[in-house]
Amino acid sequence: MFMFYPSPGPGPEGANWIPGPLEYPDIDYDAIFSQVRRLVKSVIGKERSGLGLAIGEFDPRIAAFWEVGGNYLVLNGALLRKLGETVKDRGELRDYVLVVLMHEYVHSLGFTDELATRKITEQIIRETMGDRSRAARISSQDLWSVYPQLMEATPVHGAPLVIVPRFSTEDLGYIA
Ligand SMILES: [Zn+2]
Repeated sequence: MFMFYPSPGPGPEGANWIPGPLEYPDIDYDAIFSQVRRLVKSVIGKERSGLGLAIGEFDPRIAAFWEVGGNYLVLNGALLRKLGETVKDRGELRDYVLVVLMHEYVHSLGFTDELATRKITEQIIRETMGDRSRAARISSQDLWSVYPQLMEATPVHGAPLVIVPRFSTEDLGYIA
């Protein structure tokens, strides 16, 4: 896509290279992704392992991306920071992350069409979390309509990608 990808693994300081000056909402991305994988599998019967999560700073009109063939789902940290400032309910933040991660995860399972991916994501959420759930509401609309403040997010260009530690820990069983 359009971003430079540092290779995963130890950074310049060794060990777990992470945060620069930017702070992202402290939520359990790993647990949310485990849930995403379970929900997706329970509805469409597909899964994959070996994906990591990174947070980067880019155009606020893009919530996240998965680079075709890549091993990382990349969340837009500028949007996470903006929501962290404006959404008081942590549960709502988790629902946002769940919807966005599920969307990218569905892409990574081979669904390349954007509209189809949105529909499938919404369907999975409706079937597993209910039509009246907040996640269903978020997934059924344009993210930027649900959260107009996202358009005001200000990405810090040149900020290093943050690799989320312990992401997708369910994979450990496969590696061992
Ligand atoms: Zn998409």
